Amino acid sequence: MIVRGSCLCGAVAFEVRLPFGRFVNCHCNRCRKTSGSAHSANAAVAPEAFRWTRGETAVTRYDLPPARSFATAFCSTCGSPLPHLTRSGREVIIPAGTLDDDPGVKPDRHIHWSSRAAWTCPASDLPTSD
Ligand SMILES: [Zn+2]
Ligand SMILES: [Zn+2]
Repeated sequence: MIVRGSCLCGAVAFEVRLPFGRFVNCHCNRCRKTSGSAHSANAAVAPEAFRWTRGETAVTRYDLPPARSFATAFCSTCGSPLPHLTRSGREVIIPAGTLDDDPGVKPDRHIHWSSRAAWTCPASDLPTSD
């Protein structure tokens, strides 16, 4: 099954082949910065399961210099977070809020839970870990 995603302005679009390898809510302070929210909701797939369908040249990537592997990507026009290939090249991280279709699965845990914002929502029914 294929699910589609896009940015806010529509300049960039992509497709992902399911299933996801991982799907988590990450509460680390880097994810809070890049999402502008309490946590990221990130899915991951192998690079072969991902392709841009529109606007790849509008994607800007940012690799956080002091980080071993933290990176983010966003639309150069509207600033929406977008998928990026990890520095290892082993997986593509997909900010799930960019998906236009229902992948039929939900995040299965909260990670970096001890780094959560003081105002974050309670942990729902998902397990937490650091
Ligand atoms: Zn855009
Ligand atoms: Zn994170």
